[in-house]
Amino acid sequence: MDTAQTNHWQTLWINIHLATMTDGGKSYGAIEEGALAVSEGKISWLGKAKNLPVFDKRRVQVIDGQGQWLTPGLIDCHTHLVYGGNRANEFEMRLQGKSYQEISQAGGGIVSTVKATRAASEAELLASALPRLMALHQEGVTSLEVKSGYGLDTITEIKMLKVASELAKKLPVTIKRTFLGAHALPIEYTDQADAYIDLVCDEMIPKIAVAQLADAVDVFCEGIGFDLKQTERIFAAAQSNGLSIKVHAEQLSNLGGTELAAKYQALSSDHLEFLSVDGIKAMAKADMTAVLLPGAFYFLRETQLPPINALRQAGVAIAIATDVNPGSSPICSLQLMLNMACTLFKLTPAEAIAGVTCHGAKALGLSASKGQLKVGFDADLACWRIKQPAELCYQFGVNPLSSLFKAGLQVI
Ligand SMILES: [Zn+2]
Repeated sequence: MDTAQTNHWQTLWINIHLATMTDGGKSYGAIEEGALAVSEGKISWLGKAKNLPVFDKRRVQVIDGQGQWLTPGLIDCHTHLVYGGNRANEFEMRLQGKSYQEISQAGGGIVSTVKATRAASEAELLASALPRLMALHQEGVTSLEVKSGYGLDTITEIKMLKVASELAKKLPVTIKRTFLGAHALPIEYTDQADAYIDLVCDEMIPKIAVAQLADAVDVFCEGIGFDLKQTERIFAAAQSNGLSIKVHAEQLSNLGGTELAAKYQALSSDHLEFLSVDGIKAMAKADMTAVLLPGAFYFLRETQLPPINALRQAGVAIAIATDVNPGSSPICSLQLMLNMACTLFKLTPAEAIAGVTCHGAKALGLSASKGQLKVGFDADLACWRIKQPAELCYQFGVNPLSSLFKAGLQVI
């Protein structure tokens, strides 16, 4: 028996169906009755079981997939997972009919999260973020993004990014950290937005870049956030400090933040309910990913749908994420987002699953190693107790994850 080409295999999945997600969401890239081999944390062979090369059964650990489905480990490419306190109080006040002003006088809104985040120690922030991360992980998430943006001063922004780094040591997940200093204007800078942007560009970004605390920089470009000029200053500072760029844009109005981000070769533009035709063209040309956030759409009871058909026709990759945050999406479930992407945004199940695998990876600059079942890619694998991939989007509330592997090692 010649086992030269399989001698390095460590584990081999047999009796398994594969949703490779190598087709950009047009299909599942399914290989039914497949097999998949792993060596040194990477996928080293996959295909139809009947085409399996000869292997030495004494050297390889064989996993019987029992006819289940294997997908890439899920990727949540937009979260604000680290924050102090919560906003249940404000949620309740709103439902009791209190006005925006009354809520704000009671210290509600983002100001309350900033206050709680500044007051919390690194250990406290870590302890409060861990259950949220655990919830995502138990649903199959192996990679995610975590943003700062509730400190709005140098010390607290750095503290949040350090907590994001620590989280990756507590659970077997890959974490990409994004600096979102321009999330909102801190009260001490009321009516001095440009001065705050000076602080972000001249102090925060260089310090964070030198300490290697972030992979990307994000801006809330919106009427109630920062304008185009301020946004561009931040993009320029990110670029000159060697950091990737992302943007929260076109959520409540069409300001053109997406087109500006395209000029700076941003990885993604996120939200996009009010994205224009020109914005879509710019995204397609710059090969940016459109990150849609159905949880925020639902929680805020928005009615303007993102231009999904136009994005689809322009060939823009669409990712789906939880946007976990205390104000507009306190929802730690990527499985629920799969359901909402289909029910609220009318994505097909294949598009929705692509949104949390291959396209989620693209939004984080990880598309060369994660988000697809492909030879040479990281063996981040989720095994599901389902008969067909659409079940991941169709049903919610019964977690069908049966096992989870990170770089080839079983973690659930
Ligand atoms: Zn967000």
